[in-house]
Amino acid sequence: MTGAGRYAPSPSGDLHFGNLRTALIAWLFARHSGRSFLLRVEDIDTGRSSLESAHRQIEDLLTLGLTFDGDILYQSSRSEAYAAALEQLPVYECYCSRKDIQEASRAPHAIPGSYPGTCRLLSDAARAQRRADLAAQGRVPALRLRAETTSFTIHDFYRGAYTGDVDDFVLRRGGQEPGWAYNLAVVVDDGFQGVDQVVRGDDLLSSAPRQAYLASLLGLPVPAYSHVPLVLGPTGKRLAKRDGAVTLREMLVDHSVPDVVGRLATTLGYPGVDELSQLLEVFDPEELPRDEIIWHGN
Ligand code: GLU
Repeated sequence: MTGAGRYAPSPSGDLHFGNLRTALIAWLFARHSGRSFLLRVEDIDTGRSSLESAHRQIEDLLTLGLTFDGDILYQSSRSEAYAAALEQLPVYECYCSRKDIQEASRAPHAIPGSYPGTCRLLSDAARAQRRADLAAQGRVPALRLRAETTSFTIHDFYRGAYTGDVDDFVLRRGGQEPGWAYNLAVVVDDGFQGVDQVVRGDDLLSSAPRQAYLASLLGLPVPAYSHVPLVLGPTGKRLAKRDGAVTLREMLVDHSVPDVVGRLATTLGYPGVDELSQLLEVFDPEELPRDEIIWHGN
């Protein structure tokens, strides 16, 4: 096998129908293209993640019949690798609070959602002052990438060429509980694990240009991206626990595993298929429905 795909859930709750659909599509893409398929537990956000939740998610994926290769990688064990990557990157300290950033990004020429660069050009004296002010509140500065571009183009299997904003995004979060930022961890780990195929929800499409740019700065290959529509709840927002019995565990109270696989397969355009091996035989990434899937209850 050459190359690898992956599923990289954040362990902050049981997997629901939408998560399972994304995991299944990632598995199908990898297996269909002869790649290995890896699992990565994205537990850098220690406040929201738990090992128990990770174990339950892994159990759920195995219950569904998804198979993984190699060892499971836990981001909580990867601090040294993230620190080593940070050493290679041009960074600067940022002392802004969320409120500072919101206010600055309301300025007439600001790009919505992008960091306006407030701390990029501070003098050493100003930095020392702000660092001391933060320290007095028990906080540390964030570290941001000193980006040399404002946009980057990736290629997405479904969207084609996609150009998105690149700002001076955070690599290490500051505050009272500093921690690694998702964009750094995901890029370092995809590189480390040899992931060359990223299949995930299209809520992350707008992050892909930043991640691809970061990969290029770190000398890592940029993976092939496929962003797929999320499953939406009845109100049109992304499916969530409040939408009813949406987790695999809840679904399995009244339904069998083949029922759930069948329901997933139907959303992929293959009604009547209720086994993963069969699904893999018929799966064609080109045929995947491009529209959002609406959940109509269990
Ligand atoms: N951990 C992210 C999530 O659960 C996915 C990250 C990725 O696939 O790149 O939303």
